[in-house]
Amino acid sequence: MAVLVIADHNNVELNAATRNAVTAALELSSNVSVLVTGYQCQAVVDQVAKIEGVGQVLVASHPSQQHFLAENQSLCISSIAKEFSHVVAPATSMGKSVMPRVAAQLDVQQITEITKIFDENTFERPIYAGNAFIKLVSSDAIKVITVRATKFVSAIDGNNVAPTKDIEANFDAQLSKFIGAESSKSDKVELTTAKVVVSGGRGLASEENFGLIHQLAEKLNAGVGASRAAVDAGFAPSDCQVGQTGKVVAPDVYIAIGMSGAIQHLAGMKDSKMIIAINKDPDAPIFQVADIGMVGDLFEVVPEMIAKLA
Ligand SMILES: Cc1cc2nc3c(=O)[nH]c(=O)nc-3n(C[C@H](O)[C@H](O)[C@H](O)COP(=O)(O)OP(=O)(O)OC[C@H]3O[C@@H](n4cnc5c(N)ncnc54)[C@H](O)[C@@H]3O)c2cc1C
Repeated sequence: MAVLVIADHNNVELNAATRNAVTAALELSSNVSVLVTGYQCQAVVDQVAKIEGVGQVLVASHPSQQHFLAENQSLCISSIAKEFSHVVAPATSMGKSVMPRVAAQLDVQQITEITKIFDENTFERPIYAGNAFIKLVSSDAIKVITVRATKFVSAIDGNNVAPTKDIEANFDAQLSKFIGAESSKSDKVELTTAKVVVSGGRGLASEENFGLIHQLAEKLNAGVGASRAAVDAGFAPSDCQVGQTGKVVAPDVYIAIGMSGAIQHLAGMKDSKMIIAINKDPDAPIFQVADIGMVGDLFEVVPEMIAKLA
């Protein structure tokens, strides 16, 4: 068995979730290659080559791969997929966009966001927004898989430097065109890798009040999360959204403030090691998953916490 992992990156830095996908791949086989598609992405190739357990790094570098257009990237992956028994990517925006295309091109079923590996054909994945898990057996010749990063530990750097090999990278499906990119620059702690996350909900009532979440997060060196209701109301940007249609996080500590604990929100944070909830409603469902719950008005409790931490 040979497993191919698709690296998620921005041509400069490897997305940490790739390391979790490498760990999943190593559970399947010791023969693990990582494919880096992109352009002028040597820095990423160097980072991947150092990961313990990576046997080789395949490099597909070409202007057609520079902006990670899913139509072009999937053609590149499919062109070599038949050499592998499994093609694995982290369930990031990249993985979710590219891997269904790869599966369609290979005429196999995509296996989405696995949380456990039983053997090379048998996997666990969540259904119904994480309220149930199924154990599935795939009979496809090539398994095309996305991996829930929070369920596999991060592969670390070893003493090895894996060999690299250039592969054909000129794939332009001519179905999409890169126009431009706007990304927010922030020196804040990255939500998906933060050890502590402070998350705010509709209870904050305004964007201005949501500043309390930022202040508390700063004191705790934490990432900032939000419920969809808070994002939809414009209190927080959409990249803060945690949940079924947002990010999945599993920090050491998750502090849920002014949010009810809807199942769609829990789907994104209930694997956190410790959940602390602050809500004025003692019957709020968030208290059912909380390890520590405080019934109180967040506008009294949170400023007090900030003052104490100062
Ligand atoms: C298909 C689908 C996908 C979805 N995906 C997501 C998702 O990814 N993430 C997500 O979060 N939601 C998602 N939702 C929305 C979800 O169902 C809830 O509507 C949302 O999570 C509610 O957000 P909330 O808890 O902030 O707001 P509310 O449910 O309105 O809760 C606000 C809470 O704040 C408390 N509160 C109010 N004032 C105070 C105060 N002064 N002090 C203390 N507590 C106070 C209230 O008691 C209440 O419990 C999805 C829904 C659907 C249908």
